[in-house]
Amino acid sequence: MSLALVPPPRRVLLPASITRTPPPLGAHVHEFSGRTMGTTWNVRLVDGPRVDRKRVLRAIEGALGDVVEQMSTWEPDSDLCRFNRAAAGTWQSLPESFGQVLACALDVAARSDGAFDPTAGALVDAWGFGPPARRGVPGADALAQARERAGWRRLSIAPGRGVALQPGGLALDLSAIAKGFGVDLVARRLAALGIESHLVEIGGELRGSGVKPDGQPWWVALEEPGTAATSTLVALHGLAVATSGDYRRWFEHDGTRYSHTIDPRDGLPIRHGLASVTVIHAECMQADAWSTALGVLGLDAGLALADRLDLAARFVQRTGGGFEERTSAAFDRLTQ
Ligand code: AMP
Ligand code: MG
Repeated sequence: MSLALVPPPRRVLLPASITRTPPPLGAHVHEFSGRTMGTTWNVRLVDGPRVDRKRVLRAIEGALGDVVEQMSTWEPDSDLCRFNRAAAGTWQSLPESFGQVLACALDVAARSDGAFDPTAGALVDAWGFGPPARRGVPGADALAQARERAGWRRLSIAPGRGVALQPGGLALDLSAIAKGFGVDLVARRLAALGIESHLVEIGGELRGSGVKPDGQPWWVALEEPGTAATSTLVALHGLAVATSGDYRRWFEHDGTRYSHTIDPRDGLPIRHGLASVTVIHAECMQADAWSTALGVLGLDAGLALADRLDLAARFVQRTGGGFEERTSAAFDRLTQ
């Protein structure tokens, strides 16, 4: 006797609001894709049959280029790397986007009590997840030095956000938030071209707006760690979704799995068994930062904070034999 395959449960996540603006007559879905920030990007948008592809591509690549030029840890000439190399006690000017992202990152750092830390660059490097080519568990001295260099409370930005103070040895790393910001920036540049209906994705972080020619919003399936099954579909209508997970980047040493997400409070990779955290928010920058922050906090503290801050979050926890899903109240409200 063969076992029938039972399809996984499907849940539909309703958009927060639906505008009934009809799509333009003769509208098509056009697709664009490429590579950025060490991953892939994909944009789908609705326009007439003769979309100016060059103009659209220029807008998308221009936005992505701005993010890399300002916030990449991998480009030695980026504004972020310039800040990291700057002498102690010097104020460094920040381009507008960099200033916005850093202000948001510091806000999430404060509200997560340091679980999210945009100054964790030295720790990320120590564990081999940054540009310096090394792998494996750092020695006690190297780890202690990296911990001394990190600390979001050491970072001051001026109220206008145009300058930040390098206190000495502080290494910014905005990898946990910059992709989400990139998604928002591409979406805003498309809207500025008059393209209101679009789905923007960079490395799994997504933001959707408007409807497709068939009147449907952009539906996306939430990633399921460890399985190809789909159990939650999200209509991204004026919403963004981001996922942080240890199944994406990690290394194994002596039978232990080391995540690329570091708990800045003890300087060690997270190890509480969370496979992924997904956050839904109007801004992808916020969704990206919060999915990382809640991932550091772990299931119990993360879920409690998500409920306190009314964040829509979904946690997938590893259990003995599989995975268990838990969701915040705001997430449950969206699914009704
Ligand atoms: P994400 O995939 O968005 O969770 O971002 C993970 C990346 O953010 C890592 O590869 C590090 O570069 C960086 N990172 C690691 N731990 C933290 C942390 N606690 N706070 C902020 N950024 C972090
Ligand atoms: Mg993130």
